[in-house]
Amino acid sequence: CEKDLDTEERTFVAIKPDGVQRKLIGEIVARFEKKGLKLVGCKLIQPSRKLAEKHYAEHKGKPFYEGLLDFITSGPVFAMVWEGKEVVSTSRSLIGLTDPKKSPMNTIRGDFGIDVGRNTIHGSDSVESAQREIKLWFSKNELITSSITIEKWIN
Ligand code: ADP
Ligand code: MG
Repeated sequence: CEKDLDTEERTFVAIKPDGVQRKLIGEIVARFEKKGLKLVGCKLIQPSRKLAEKHYAEHKGKPFYEGLLDFITSGPVFAMVWEGKEVVSTSRSLIGLTDPKKSPMNTIRGDFGIDVGRNTIHGSDSVESAQREIKLWFSKNELITSSITIEKWIN
């Protein structure tokens, strides 16, 4: 059953249309891999308005909300699920602060952006958000389960 398979923490990460257009997929995936996190699913997808609305539901009514939806639906997004110990907070550390200008160097947003509305990447902010977002963006058969160990394939 589901519980047996999902033992490790998982998070949802997405390279936004600006990051895809700027050819940052490889660089960003490399940072997550080098950190020691495990990729358990990924796809290039241009999200529908409906998916974007559900994803950013917590921001409904904020001044930047409509622009955010326009932007996130404007082109392909590279959606990923990463697994590992405390992967939610570890991913947020790799990503940096919401505003790229304030985000430290050596974080993804600090290194690759300058505009809060074009901040390259999304990462779930809590374990609960991660579970919700993974369900929203991926179906179960698109994700590798722990019963199949990626390590066996690469070592
Ligand atoms: P984070 O992505 O770091 O979790 P939030 O959840 O607060 O940040 O906001 C979601 C996204 O909305 C941000 O990544 C950013 O792209 C956009 N956003 C947030 N605040 C602003 C703002 N003041 N102006 C424009 N866009 C914003
Ligand atoms: Mg957020």
